[in-house]
Amino acid sequence: MHPDFDITQPFTMIYHTPGGGEDVRVDYSVTGVGLTLARNEPVLSEEELFEIRVANAGFFERLSIAPPWGETPWVDVILLSILLGFVLAAFLSKNSSIRWITLAITLFYLGFHKDGFLSVSHITSMLKQGPGVFTSNLPTLMIVSFTVITTLIWGRVFCSSLCPFGALQDFITRFTPKRLKFQMPQAIHDRALYIKYGILALILTLALTSPEISIFQYFEPFGTVFFFSRSPVLWAILIAILLACVVVERFYCRYVCPLGAALGVMSLLSPLRIKRVPQCTLCKVCESACPTGAIRREKIDFKECVRCDVCETKLIKLAGTCRHPMEEITRRQRDKQAIPVVNLTPPVSA
Ligand code: SF4
Ligand code: SF4
Ligand code: SF4
Repeated sequence: MHPDFDITQPFTMIYHTPGGGEDVRVDYSVTGVGLTLARNEPVLSEEELFEIRVANAGFFERLSIAPPWGETPWVDVILLSILLGFVLAAFLSKNSSIRWITLAITLFYLGFHKDGFLSVSHITSMLKQGPGVFTSNLPTLMIVSFTVITTLIWGRVFCSSLCPFGALQDFITRFTPKRLKFQMPQAIHDRALYIKYGILALILTLALTSPEISIFQYFEPFGTVFFFSRSPVLWAILIAILLACVVVERFYCRYVCPLGAALGVMSLLSPLRIKRVPQCTLCKVCESACPTGAIRREKIDFKECVRCDVCETKLIKLAGTCRHPMEEITRRQRDKQAIPVVNLTPPVSA
């Protein structure tokens, strides 16, 4: 066959019959597997073809051809619904016992058992394939929807108690002796917090311009700890981050997490924020207690707030306003005395 002959196009075979009879003409066109092989394309199974069709479909088409509830184990959906209920209950009630129970469920069920954490890779996948990428898995769709809705309403509720790595950091802080804690100098903190926004921008830019390069695993240790990665480099990064979290509360959330940076930007749209009171212009109790360094006197840098409730639960509590009298705060400021936290909690009425 001539090398220029294109077998993928229809062609006619002419048979010269012996004895000078009339030629026989037969029209051919290669189809099916033969055509696939002729084009040097991979031969795919029905399942693989279906996956490609789903991957290329739009959001609503995906819902119809591959509904997320199609393959979903309903036990997972029920357990996840219970967890989301706990997250909301902890956040709305400001009850620290419920929050610690929620953090434990998040860490062990969502993190170690189900590998069900969100990652910046979900954002890059969505940018490349559209929001339909979440419709093939109902639990993922539930977590993403819950995170987006609560962030737009209240800020980073996800970071409060639905993120397994945030939960891990809170447990580290809870069991670390106070003498090991280090207060990050203000000037360094104010600059370092923008590192995570730079990391986010780098990951998104690379995802959009060079889809074959993926670097998020070097900045997100979630997969290392919850998937038990075999990479020594990733374990070295994880150990360095965890050691930093021992001395600086929520170190990773403060300075490194690209997902937290994305949620922080989104949280700037939320209307329901934390209230402050006039005493906050003088008092530094909440500022010292905030795990992410988001408070500066009466101001809260809301994009940095992980809605941990420390300032609302322990210090403002049920009355909705700090009970500490302004005169007392002024006097203590003048005397340069610390303001004991215990005095600031209003008595709970019977
Ligand atoms: S900032 Fe990142 S690690 Fe921290 S709680 Fe939020 S998503 Fe999780
Ligand atoms: S303890 Fe009260 S006055 Fe002090 S910063 Fe917190 S809310 Fe403001
Ligand atoms: S203590 Fe800080 S991180 Fe926690 S809710 Fe208050 S401002 Fe947000």
